[in-house]
Amino acid sequence: MRLVVALDLEGTLISNAVSAFPRPGLKQFVESTLKVADRVVMFTTVRGERARELLQLIENEDCLPAGFAAAVEFVPYSGKTKDLSAVGEPASATVLLVDDQPSMVHPGQDANWIPIAEFMPPFEQNDHELERVGKIIWEIRDDIKLAGIINRRASETPVPINLDDL
Ligand SMILES: [Mg+2]
Repeated sequence: MRLVVALDLEGTLISNAVSAFPRPGLKQFVESTLKVADRVVMFTTVRGERARELLQLIENEDCLPAGFAAAVEFVPYSGKTKDLSAVGEPASATVLLVDDQPSMVHPGQDANWIPIAEFMPPFEQNDHELERVGKIIWEIRDDIKLAGIINRRASETPVPINLDDL
């Protein structure tokens, strides 16, 4: 089953679109998430080209994997919340949103939301939120794999029991 991760930008990966401080552990988090997810997208209220420029700046500081800023997809944002149906995945896919703002979570999609504390002043350098969230994403991948195995076993034809053998 597909695992897709949608990432917020401001307050989640960086401070904000003005100061653009990368959150501690950003590069490792993105590398780890690219490994575990089938697709990683950005889902931000910062308008497309500006958001990509910010990512490029951060990548130039070696705080993102090389090539990420240029390659990552941006989900078009409209409305008041981040409706994950805009990510464009089949219903069978697990789509997660990593976001610091509860108000951005689309009604009915709380189960898809991984909350992360807002990265805000004084921008602690011992902030471990991205490391914590990265581990959660790996755990969800394990759960998805396990669910796949259980579903396969459940669909296998049960072996009939011969009462004479008992
Ligand atoms: Mg945010």
